[in-house]
Amino acid sequence: MARRTFVALAVAALLGLGGAVWWAVTPARRSIPLVRGQAPPESLQAHCDDAVGPPRIVAISERVRLAIGWDLASTVLVRTDAGNVIVDVGMSPARAAPVREALLRDSPGPIAAIVYTHSHIDHVGGASVWADDGVPIWATDAFTDHFIKQYGAFRLAEGRRGAAQFGEHVSEDSLPCSALGRRPDLAAAAATGARFPTHTFSGAQDLEIGGVRIHLREAHGETHDQLFVHLPDEGVLLAGDNFYRSFPNLYTLRGTSPRPIDAWIASLDAMRRLAPEHLVPSHTAPLSGREQVAAALTRYRDAIQWVRDRVIQLANAGRSVDQIAADVGLPPALAGAPELAERYGQVDWSARAIYDERLGWFDERPERLYPHAPRERARRFLDAMGGGEAVRARAREAVAGGDPRWAVELYSLLRDAAPEDMFQGTPIAGELAAALDALALEVGNTNGRAYLLETGQRLRHGDVPPPAPTIDPAFLDVLPISHFFAVMATRLDPELAAGVHESARFEFTDTGERFTVTIRHGIAEVVAGEPLPGTPEPLAQVTTTTATWRRLATDLTHPVAAIAAGELDVAGDLLGFRRFTGRFRRGL
Ligand SMILES: [Zn+2]
Repeated sequence: MARRTFVALAVAALLGLGGAVWWAVTPARRSIPLVRGQAPPESLQAHCDDAVGPPRIVAISERVRLAIGWDLASTVLVRTDAGNVIVDVGMSPARAAPVREALLRDSPGPIAAIVYTHSHIDHVGGASVWADDGVPIWATDAFTDHFIKQYGAFRLAEGRRGAAQFGEHVSEDSLPCSALGRRPDLAAAAATGARFPTHTFSGAQDLEIGGVRIHLREAHGETHDQLFVHLPDEGVLLAGDNFYRSFPNLYTLRGTSPRPIDAWIASLDAMRRLAPEHLVPSHTAPLSGREQVAAALTRYRDAIQWVRDRVIQLANAGRSVDQIAADVGLPPALAGAPELAERYGQVDWSARAIYDERLGWFDERPERLYPHAPRERARRFLDAMGGGEAVRARAREAVAGGDPRWAVELYSLLRDAAPEDMFQGTPIAGELAAALDALALEVGNTNGRAYLLETGQRLRHGDVPPPAPTIDPAFLDVLPISHFFAVMATRLDPELAAGVHESARFEFTDTGERFTVTIRHGIAEVVAGEPLPGTPEPLAQVTTTTATWRRLATDLTHPVAAIAAGELDVAGDLLGFRRFTGRFRRGL
């Protein structure tokens, strides 16, 4: 085999052809049918009609227009004498294009600036549609780190969970909206048009564009990089995701680091201080009237504080986390407030997240310290309950008797008792799926509803990997090269690495950065700069540029092409290096 081909194969194995090292693990996507015919509760349908509604432009004030109903997140346009300022740009170019057309038909003019309220993809993925040449894009300093973190080591877990939260295989008749907006098009969003900000700030930034004062205020809450926009001349406050018409998503099923609860309350207080006439969130319908806005913001922050303080009180009283989740609730003064209905966030999930953030997973229950492994535990439970068939019979009775919640508990014991990978597609899995469907009928929280229905469909038809994002080369270059190596470490196959103690070196000629990757004790250690004492002599040294490595890792360049172009060289024990790279797997 030619040396060039051999080296290319070795590098490709390390990168995991298909861009596996860092970004995309791309198992074949198959299609499974949609869940249909699960009518939503009336209250949810009413929310979808009122708080989300059809695509339309809403005139908020003289200069401010809201485009709502086109996508999960809305886009706001502020008219100035120097052109239009755009706040949030939608989730994908496909969804953003008709929004741009409609907004500019209403308010013709050049784009003067773009503001991102935060880095979530539903607010930035459509940027390529709006970011005409030279248009400044504003965000907080924390934006880029926060954005990158979303696409790191846990991308597969987050992608799978996100697809369930939004009900990727749930039809419109069963899930008419996400509580925050039109249901996202996950496949369209994979072809991202995200652009990084060109201007960032911390704290406060006062802009004046075309005679309009635009005050940006860093305001952590739903994310650690959030801002709100205050337009003092218009009496308008653009809240980002720190307020919308649902109990706040203090914890997301999609999986994130805990939301900063205290900062969220402080951000709502900063909004209250400004006493705006109009409150325009990035999701759901706007609110007008100084008193109504003040009252809604006050109830919103009080609800968050209520949950936080009740968790603290109940934890101090020694309650278990399950009991706390069951007991927290909302006080009567807040429970009926329209903006606190649990359509997107949910009080009990939030209580668990706050407990976990402050005290960790352990809740003083000694039986949690040394439990049997799940399968053994489930088998013993089934045995104590009269055996698997008896439990299955009780689960069927529960479904027939209108108690699917209990049936789901019983079926989950049968699931946990089954050998791994042997449950999906079985008749009992189908019964669990039906119980999940029945439970979903009662659920008006769109995330919970979607998760139940989507999970049921996966039990019937098998898992479908989340759509793999395609990468826009425009923002590859801001990714720190260390990020690629950190994710690479998590791809080591511990079985293939058993008993191995080897290292390889990587040198980047453009930045002078050097990394040593050492396989030892079943882990891959990544060290920047000089290797640590005790590191074995490297089997091989890879010399390349950061730009080439980024493109290799994201499948935009093939190693054969990089070697042919003189952009990639591997020196040393090639056979050993090939073995070394073969120990990393994609899809772990
Ligand atoms: Zn959002």
